[in-house]
Amino acid sequence: MINSAQINSVAMQRFSRLAANHHLAHAYLLVGPKDSGKTQTALSLAQLVNCERAANLPCGECAACRKIASGNHPDVLVIGNDEMDSIKIEEIRFLLGRAHLMAYEARTKVFIIRNVELMTLEAANALLKTLEEPAANTLMILTTSVLEANLDTIKSRCHIVKFFQKNEIIPNNRKVMDEMLLNRHNDAFLKELASNPQETTQALRLLLSFFRDVILFKSGISKAALVHQDCLKELEKFAARGFEDITQIIRQIVQTKKLVDEKLNVKMSLSLLREHIWAN
Ligand SMILES: [Zn+2]
Repeated sequence: MINSAQINSVAMQRFSRLAANHHLAHAYLLVGPKDSGKTQTALSLAQLVNCERAANLPCGECAACRKIASGNHPDVLVIGNDEMDSIKIEEIRFLLGRAHLMAYEARTKVFIIRNVELMTLEAANALLKTLEEPAANTLMILTTSVLEANLDTIKSRCHIVKFFQKNEIIPNNRKVMDEMLLNRHNDAFLKELASNPQETTQALRLLLSFFRDVILFKSGISKAALVHQDCLKELEKFAARGFEDITQIIRQIVQTKKLVDEKLNVKMSLSLLREHIWAN
C-alpha cells in the first residue's frame, strides 16, 4: 500500500508540472537517505502517469490508482527490496522482457528498481541498453541511497532527483556549487543571483543542505546518509575547517534567507556569506 505521508510532495508537484507539459523524462534516479520516501514517491508517480481522472496529482481512487497502490497493476513492476543483497541479471532480464511487451492496460508502463546500486555489473549493463534506447511509453524509476555506488553510465542516463528529507528536494545545481564554493571572485554571479529572489532561495537551500552534510561528514556519519555524495571533494575540503567556521557559514545562509523572505536586498549578505566561505 502507498503510505501517503511518505510521499515527497515537492517532488510530486515537480513531476506533475513536467507531466502536464509532456516533459517527463523516461528515466529518473531518486537519490536520498533510507526512509526519505523514494519508493512511495515512485509509486505515486506511477499513479500520476496512469490515473484515469485528469488531475495535477493522482486521484488515488480510480481503478489504475488503486491497482498500483495495492501492487496489482499488471504494467507497474517493482524490483528490489531492503532485504536483498543483490539484484541479478535474471531480474533485470525479466523486467526488460516486460518493458518490450505491449501494455496490458496502462498508458505508461512503469518499472521501479529499488536500491539500484545492488545490481550486479551484468545486471547494470543489461539495463543500460534500455536506458539508452527506452521502449515506447515506458518510465523507469530507479532509487538509491548511495549515489556514488552506481555506475557513471547509469547515473548519466537518468535525471537525478535528490531527496533531502520528506517534502524537500534539493535542486541539483552544479553552477551554484561551483560559483559559491570554488570561485572566490564571483561578483558577477552574486549580482545576478541577488536580483532574483526565487533563485537566491533555491541556491541558499542547496548550500544549507551542503553545509549540513559537511557537519555530518565531519561527525563521521556513513556516506550513505549524505545528500551530496557526488561532491565528496568539496565535502572533504570544508570538513577540514573547524565546527565554529561551518556554523558561521550556516548562520550566514540562514540570515540571508531571512532577508530574502523579507524582500530585502541580499547582495551585501551574499558577499558576507562569500567571506565566511573563504575565511581561513
Ligand atoms: Zn487515479
